Amino acid sequence: MALNLTDAQVNEIVARVVSEFKKPSAQAAGPLKDWDSTQYKGRKLVGVYATMEEAIEVANAGYRAVRSMSVADREKIITAIRAFTRAEAHIMAELGVAETKMGRVDHKTAKHKLVADKTPGTEDIIEEARTGDCGLTLTEMAPFGVVGAITPSTNPSETVICNSIGMIAAGNGVVFNPHPGAIATSNYAVDLVNRAVAGAGGPPVLVASVVKPTLDTASVMYKHPSIKLLVCTGGPGVVKAVLSSGKKAIGAGAGNPPVIVDDTADIDKAAKDIIDGCTFDNNLPCIAEKEVFVFDNVADRLVAGMQKNGCIKLTRAQADELAKVVLVEKTGKDGKVSKIVNRDCVGRDCRVILEKIGLKVGPEIRCAIAEVPFEHDFVQEELMMPILGIVRVKDIDEAIDKAVKAEHGNRHTAHMHSKNIDNLTAFARAVETTIFVKNAPSYAGIGFGGEGHTTFTIAGPTGEGITSARSFTRKRRCVMVDSFRII
Ligand code: NAD
Repeated sequence: MALNLTDAQVNEIVARVVSEFKKPSAQAAGPLKDWDSTQYKGRKLVGVYATMEEAIEVANAGYRAVRSMSVADREKIITAIRAFTRAEAHIMAELGVAETKMGRVDHKTAKHKLVADKTPGTEDIIEEARTGDCGLTLTEMAPFGVVGAITPSTNPSETVICNSIGMIAAGNGVVFNPHPGAIATSNYAVDLVNRAVAGAGGPPVLVASVVKPTLDTASVMYKHPSIKLLVCTGGPGVVKAVLSSGKKAIGAGAGNPPVIVDDTADIDKAAKDIIDGCTFDNNLPCIAEKEVFVFDNVADRLVAGMQKNGCIKLTRAQADELAKVVLVEKTGKDGKVSKIVNRDCVGRDCRVILEKIGLKVGPEIRCAIAEVPFEHDFVQEELMMPILGIVRVKDIDEAIDKAVKAEHGNRHTAHMHSKNIDNLTAFARAVETTIFVKNAPSYAGIGFGGEGHTTFTIAGPTGEGITSARSFTRKRRCVMVDSFRII
């Protein structure tokens, strides 16, 4: 599936896309300065509006049109979205890397194909009928109407398409307030969905977005009476804002997935799996391995295995120096100083990040590892870059205690490499995450080399888990008393 592009090829593609795509925008401001969120190569994007109010109105009209369509016709729309996504996966991957400067084209292409192939459609919507002495009661999964969705910069078009498939399969229209730093890529995906919908006999616009998303346009979305469900995929700030909106909301928030490796694991395989997962799309996925707790008696072998798999081992001094670069201090409105990730490092190639501390490595180095204490930033912070902190532990109790603390109660994702079922069970129970992956790279948890459907909206805080079409429905009951029973 991977394209195996060299860095030079990636840079060439990025330069080409940027030169083709860079056009001055009438709305140019802030993050949109260099990116036109309304057109692609001169073709106007369908479903992109100047105001949030207009976008909601059009999505509402689309929803009303879809209400009169059969489920079979809705499934034709989903089939078309899958086909368009497969065919244009590489375009969105190139756009995403060029616009956000984060991630890798080959991995983003694979992510789009995963969305196309493994996001559930209308088959996910199931009805329930109960019969008894009193007659028949039917429960159906009905659409909400228009869903308001907030999407991140880390998986921009992947999330727009994955959300669209699930929300449309459930019978909804959608309006997006995408991340401003990925607006051109997100709006390309909005346009793709609308082209697929219209081509399959649906309304001309079923998913809508805005030219320039801001916190104000998000606020219009929260308050608008036509928006009946909010779905937020992003960091803690935006999830909190959405959950405080007073509307029904699904929150898919931040993670900091720990990995435990005990001394029963296949250490060579664990080393490869951890680095494959950690470096996937340069560590942008919220499920990707972020820190490792390894038994002391196998730690040297694990580190050596990682070095064989494209890692450079940093000294403690180098790790401390790098931590000062990849995290920056920010003073909040309340005057409090906190550390936030340096956006110039998030999702970048390892080589580019290491250059910032004067370390020159080749493109074959895909991850920097460092043995650090538990308190270190490489363990505690969700960096979203190919840097992995490794902590030695003496036994399973210490490993679980530290891993649970490093996960910070996000209840998002955790990983373990072990053949001891007691250890595996003990960690899974203690960490209480939505996803728990055993003996595989993290991406197996979203159906990439693992069983089960995919999603790019993992709703831990609100409990929907690995979201799918049914997550975007409301249950309705119809009761017929004393009739419709045939026995
Ligand atoms: P982010 O939190 O910076 O932004 C998400 C979106 O929210 C953007 O559109 C942003 O403009 C908007 N936003 C931010 N604050 C807001 C507010 N107060 N009101 C309204 N909108 C607001 O996210 P990002 O950096 O693009 O994504 C990375 C984060 O998202 C990480 O923490 C990652 O773990 C998380 N994430 C979670 C999932 C999941 O499924 N749980 C998936 C992807 C990303």
